[in-house]
Amino acid sequence: MTETTKPSAPESDPLVSVSGLAKSFGEHEVLRSVDFDVAPGSVTVLIGPSGSGKTTVLRSLNALDVADAGVVRIGDVEVDFAQRPVTKRQVASLRAQSGMVFQAHHLFPHLTVLENVTAGPVLAQRRDRAAVDEEARDLLRLVGLEEKAHAYPFQLSGGQQQRVGIARALAIRPKLMLFDEPTSALDPELVGEVLLVMKDLAAQGWTMVVVTHEIRFAQQVADQVLFMDGGVIVERGTPDEVLTRPRTERARQFLHRIL
Ligand code: ADP
Repeated sequence: MTETTKPSAPESDPLVSVSGLAKSFGEHEVLRSVDFDVAPGSVTVLIGPSGSGKTTVLRSLNALDVADAGVVRIGDVEVDFAQRPVTKRQVASLRAQSGMVFQAHHLFPHLTVLENVTAGPVLAQRRDRAAVDEEARDLLRLVGLEEKAHAYPFQLSGGQQQRVGIARALAIRPKLMLFDEPTSALDPELVGEVLLVMKDLAAQGWTMVVVTHEIRFAQQVADQVLFMDGGVIVERGTPDEVLTRPRTERARQFLHRIL
């Protein structure tokens, strides 16, 4: 048997690069020079106390919040927020890179599940309805809700609604999926089904940034954990490094409180 030496895989470029991200609301400095990278196909989990800036990081990636300074690059779209004005076109192109799943589902109540999933691609992206319908059914199958295609949101449980929210975010074919505490508004017995879908997505190679207090999920799925406090990333590393062997007192105290 001949042995071939496999060249070591080149370090792939990050899919997401964030540097110097800063954001204030009035006098309140919510983010102070946040830097991190996200490798393609990896899962980043953001943890930290309430008010530490986690949601603002996600909203800045998606340009729902316009940062005051810092550079966000997702794929080949880069926006330098210090360069004013930030144009509508820049906001739109950054937003198109990611699909976002919120704490509460925000589904359109008057549209069916299928119509909720197809609305973005058909109305905003102007893609062909028949092709989008077919893709949407695949996405509903992925989140285990194919048989609910013609139901309305009010007919679904909170967990099912969140799974439709995930399918809807995937339907725009984003490069990156953002999850903002997707299970925190759910009854405890519904949390598992949503985390399971997220684990499936991670296993399929989706690049994900997730704000969550579900530490077990972080332990099982995250490649990188970022612990935020007071608008800065205080610790970063593997789940084992940050969650099992935190270096700072702040992280230790936080984990002690939530575990
Ligand atoms: P986390 O997700 O870690 O709980 P957030 O990013 O939601 O933190 O919020 C960080 C801080 O920014 C909080 O003190 C919050 O009250 C404040 N904040 C967030 N959004 C706004 C806003 N639109 N206007 C004013 N203050 C805000």
